[in-house]
Amino acid sequence: MTHKNQITSKIPVGILGSTGSVGQKFIELLAEHPWFEITALAASERSAGKSYRDAAHWFMSSPIPEKIADLPVSDCTPNLPCRIVFSGLDASVAGKIETEFAKAGYIVVSNSKNHRFDSDVPLLIPEVNPDHLALIRTQQYGKGAIITNPNCATTGLVLALKPLNDLFGLEALNVVTMQAISGAGYPGVASLDIIDNMIPVIRNEEEKVESEPLKILGRLNENHFEPANFKISAACNRIAVTDGHTECVSVKFRKKPSAQEIIGAWDRFSAEPQYLNLPSAPKQPIHYFSEDDAPQPKLHRMLGNGMTVSVGRLRECPILDYKFVVLSHNTIRGAAGGAILNAELLVSKFPGIG
Ligand code: NAP
Repeated sequence: MTHKNQITSKIPVGILGSTGSVGQKFIELLAEHPWFEITALAASERSAGKSYRDAAHWFMSSPIPEKIADLPVSDCTPNLPCRIVFSGLDASVAGKIETEFAKAGYIVVSNSKNHRFDSDVPLLIPEVNPDHLALIRTQQYGKGAIITNPNCATTGLVLALKPLNDLFGLEALNVVTMQAISGAGYPGVASLDIIDNMIPVIRNEEEKVESEPLKILGRLNENHFEPANFKISAACNRIAVTDGHTECVSVKFRKKPSAQEIIGAWDRFSAEPQYLNLPSAPKQPIHYFSEDDAPQPKLHRMLGNGMTVSVGRLRECPILDYKFVVLSHNTIRGAAGGAILNAELLVSKFPGIG
């Protein structure tokens, strides 16, 4: 395969952590993908040797795709029959396994936190910083490479901020998140902890939301990388919603725009994945709702097949300049769907890599 719409054969791909929450979403989204074909599934030694049907506790709303159910699950040694591996591995093991795969010549497209801040690894949202993909040329993995996507709460936030930062410059940002249970993996938070409740902490999450946007919105110059320069304060909470992270955001700009200018920037926003017509790219990356009770996770998380970020309730902030609400699907745009879009961008920009 060389480029979009010029497919001669599909690229064989594997999934590391295929039995988990993100792994299952990968399978659901890749089962009928026009460019990629799942040829390998891997997970821990607990699952290795079983058929996928027996290894996974499948909890997606559609049945396990027939062609996947009887595939064998391997352990995570780098001898899988594919070129690209999508990783939904638990962070306790992802770092080492992903490095081994990259060294063995695989393209690793990861969801895990472990390599996000390696200086030669792109932390990528294709609509936001597609130019950072060039960093893989500096990696020392031979034919292999690692690219990563951000934490699920970072992704929706940064997409909504991108056109505003470009036009008006961000100076400071306060964000309070209300994050879905599926973000904690499976089986995740105990039902007795979360039903009728809100948990005011997600371990290590605030550090990610306060640091990742600065790398993603940073500038890649010829010789060095310059992180974005604004302050972020994050408070992260777990709530009893299945999918979809909602975030209340307040921002201060370097040049304060009017509310109409902000809404116009969101409405007009379109980027490289849309120009390239990548298969997973939503037509509209950001949708602004003018209704005063939107966005809501149950109603709006599947907008653009779960890849569109919903924004609403833009109003003046008495402390900073403006405040608004952002919603995005954590296991689609914030995890598997975002990683697949990363791989599509990679294949499109580096023809022949598959
Ligand atoms: P999960 O449901 O707990 O799944 C973890 C996967 O890792 C399973 O397939 C598991 O296989 C495998 N695994 C565990 N220990 C292993 C080992 N020693 N060797 C090989 N494989 C092992 O977690 P998740 O929610 O899908 O998250 C996966 C990764 O994506 C995490 O790093 C997470 O931080 C990140 N992430 C998650 C989300 C989200 O919304 N859920 C969003 C963005 C990023 P077994 O079934 O065989 O144990």
